[in-house]
Amino acid sequence: MGRVMEDINFSKIPTPAYIVDERLLEQNLKCLNMVMKKTGCKILLAQKGFSMFSLYLIIKQYLSGTTASSLYEARLGREEMGGETHIFSPAYKEEEFAEIAEICDHIVFNTVRQYQKFKEQAKAAGCGCGLRVNPEYAEVEHEIYNPCCAGSRLGTTAAMLEQALAQDMAALDGIEGLHFHVMCEQNADTLERVLMHVEEKFGWLLALPEIKWVNFGGGHHITRSNYNIELLIKCINYIQDRYQVQVYLEPGEAVALNAGYLVAQVMDIHEQAFEVTKEMLPHNADSEEAGYMARAAILDASAACHMPDVLEMPYRPEIIGARRPGELQKRYPYIYRFGGNTCLAGDIIGDYAFDHELIPGEKLVFCDMAHYSMVKNNTFNGIALPQIWAYNEKKGAYPVKTFTYKDFKSRLS
Ligand SMILES: *Cc1c(COP(=O)(O)O)cnc(C)c1O
Repeated sequence: MGRVMEDINFSKIPTPAYIVDERLLEQNLKCLNMVMKKTGCKILLAQKGFSMFSLYLIIKQYLSGTTASSLYEARLGREEMGGETHIFSPAYKEEEFAEIAEICDHIVFNTVRQYQKFKEQAKAAGCGCGLRVNPEYAEVEHEIYNPCCAGSRLGTTAAMLEQALAQDMAALDGIEGLHFHVMCEQNADTLERVLMHVEEKFGWLLALPEIKWVNFGGGHHITRSNYNIELLIKCINYIQDRYQVQVYLEPGEAVALNAGYLVAQVMDIHEQAFEVTKEMLPHNADSEEAGYMARAAILDASAACHMPDVLEMPYRPEIIGARRPGELQKRYPYIYRFGGNTCLAGDIIGDYAFDHELIPGEKLVFCDMAHYSMVKNNTFNGIALPQIWAYNEKKGAYPVKTFTYKDFKSRLS
């Protein structure tokens, strides 16, 4: 659940709009910074999850820099935040590599072959080179988010590495760091088990004196209320002490977790109610309870365009003041199936129960909408992008950016 801050006046915000609460962002950053201070590890913002660069000046005060998945993200991190700039990409393009090497401090390669292809250029530019390993152990349930799924293209397995070294004993010369990323929204107990597998398969590499750093990737849900920070600290200290390396973490989600909202508006509501049978439960229903009556309602926010993870993950976002269908049924008898203003039948945000009848024009506030929202949205159906707003104590709620027809047209031809 989002931490509701009473003093944001959502009714004044035009819809649809994302609004990030700088106070909540800063709470997360303080927590991450505390982990850095207690261990000496370095934490980078994974821009893939959150790239609201108007707030990078705040993030910069607490974290060591940014990591990127591409040249564009690397450039954004270098231009807007500074500090250390790291990059990992499954494969680098020849025509982009010179610029990447100029921008980045660390470059992580997915395979030995990629490293061989670009190492001279990387070295000449003074970059630290790392190899992404695949420990073939993850506890991620959704296969789409599991980098250790069967046949994964992400990272070098122990067998791949063995083969590369059999062909050329010097294949890893010049590699100074290891990187793994196998977690998603997980706690430190998962990290502890992942590290056992990393050590088992790649401990010999970690122990080499040339290896100076290890990057634990992202997926650490550090800023969640029940996260075991003490165990994280223990894991980091253990690896740093045992192998004499610098540990890096690169969370995306944990930086902006529960720090923002998407404000939307009810546009229309069907008169006719329908009974929701088991087969008709929304794709993201987190209960099997069916048999309730609901009405279709159309919002000016779309799952497909503005919160794609609702469909992809899938998950059910929380709305302030709403309940699950059937929860406290007497107090929350008005149930709606919210859909976007697009022609995609499956553009369904979910079923929600209210204590009053909704009317067109009423505003709804979706929680936890800062990460993986702005970075993934699109203009399918020609639907406008939400405005981007922020809130701080001095300025209150203020607009950061609005989008127009020009933004839609500029990506087409
Ligand atoms: C996605 C990703 C991250 C960030 O993951 P979060 O789940 O947002 O913390 C970090 N590193 C790599 C290599 C990634 O692919």
